[in-house]
Amino acid sequence: MARVPFIAGNWKLNLGPAEAGELAEALASALADRGEVEVAVFPTALSALTVAGAVEGSGIEVGLQEIHSAASGAFTGTNSARMAREAGLTRVLIGHSERRQLFGETDAGVRAKVELALAEGLLPIVCVGETLEERDAGQVEAVVHRQVAAALEGLEPDQVAAITLAYEPVWAIGTGRTATPAQAQEVHASIRGWLRAHFPAFVAEDMRIQYGGSVKPGNAAELLACEDIDGALVGGASLKADSFAGIVAAVR
Ligand code: PEP
Repeated sequence: MARVPFIAGNWKLNLGPAEAGELAEALASALADRGEVEVAVFPTALSALTVAGAVEGSGIEVGLQEIHSAASGAFTGTNSARMAREAGLTRVLIGHSERRQLFGETDAGVRAKVELALAEGLLPIVCVGETLEERDAGQVEAVVHRQVAAALEGLEPDQVAAITLAYEPVWAIGTGRTATPAQAQEVHASIRGWLRAHFPAFVAEDMRIQYGGSVKPGNAAELLACEDIDGALVGGASLKADSFAGIVAAVR
């Protein structure tokens, strides 16, 4: 069965409830006739409920950009998988490179969050990707395979199939520098090969692997046309309804 394309918007630390609600309403209307493509947006936690209300009935999913690695307790300033689920959210980003680079996220932390998310029925998008130094040192495959292996370690095949991976080369995030379709496809195929080697065949066939890194309406079609690229995780271009809708429309 063909994988349904999946486009997600990571709004990062942008758009408080009022602006986020406006963007969400604009997206619900701009994406009303989007065809067979899944769409999710990740506003800040404070804007998430407003956004969820604004997109209700549109099929657009809403998630958190981050959850804590413990279920509850004395962890000031964070949100849990259970709270996200209780609030009606359905998805969560885990291991975004900004979390890894700026907030000390580790492979072990990613793994713990994946488990908590799945236990609450939240569908994770797990982000992986190499830095420019790692690429220049010929370590792309080693780094990305290590991150994928750590995130999925010990999970049952059915659990793994519920996860979306996002390959996001760190040097392409927010830089305007996009991986070429050939560069991206090479890594996506390598991740799918790794999945094939470690899980039953259906996992590699079913799992969506998004590309992320300066995706825009003008470069989305050629990336999404690649065999192993099943969608996009979009930062900057997801903050305007017309550019995000342009990327969704690039799905063929
Ligand atoms: C991201 O934050 O996941 C991302 C891909 O950002 P941008 O599209 O701005 O590069």
